[in-house]
Amino acid sequence: MTISANIAMINERIRAAAEGAERDPATVRLVAVSKTRPATDICAAFLAGQTVFGENYIQELVPKLAEIREDVQWHFIGHLQSNKVKYIAGRVALIHSVDRISLAQEIDRQWGRLGKVCDVLIQVNISGEATKSGTTEAGAIQLVRESALLPNISVKGLMTMPPFFDDPDAARPYFIELRRLAETISELQIAGVEMKELSMGMSGDFETAIQEGATLVRIGTAIFGER
Ligand SMILES: *Cc1c(COP(=O)(O)O)cnc(C)c1O
Repeated sequence: MTISANIAMINERIRAAAEGAERDPATVRLVAVSKTRPATDICAAFLAGQTVFGENYIQELVPKLAEIREDVQWHFIGHLQSNKVKYIAGRVALIHSVDRISLAQEIDRQWGRLGKVCDVLIQVNISGEATKSGTTEAGAIQLVRESALLPNISVKGLMTMPPFFDDPDAARPYFIELRRLAETISELQIAGVEMKELSMGMSGDFETAIQEGATLVRIGTAIFGER
């Protein structure tokens, strides 16, 4: 299958999953995860109508920012080292992976130099797996509170990556837990904080994630093929 055909198929599956869950399909956005993929693949996806792309590595994203002239929107979804934030300041629309206050402070500082505000999600490690980034659930509440005080950061929601399962249904409890945590944080009514985005669901489990409230699904393999 071509990239274009894959995108059409994924969009159709997103629509069907949303409608099956009695949700408006327009409330679910597809983030095409283009890590390790060449610029030509990204351009092919863009020509097929895809506008939002997710990247994991700064050293890969920076050359792509220079190379790709199309009007795409970049999201940063990978583990982010504070000393690399400067390379993407003002150039990504959303960072999905804020998991500690020192990182939030550096994003705030770098976007502040540009007089801009960076939209971020707090990454939560619901499963507690040692190999995964993200805060604990209690840590997420604290991190949202502290980030809310930074003038050049705007917290828009939460992100998680459940453990890998062959059965997409096995990931459901993690998606439910992230949604509940977002509801809990919403009820705290922290000034300037919105819990409108839930970034959850990948190639193998995005339909389950949509059933549980995902607003951003991050899909790589099902669009671009095996990495
Ligand atoms: C690679 C990656 C994805 C995409 O995974 P696929 O299984 O290829 O769809 C999504 N989110 C994150 C954080 C990733 O690193």
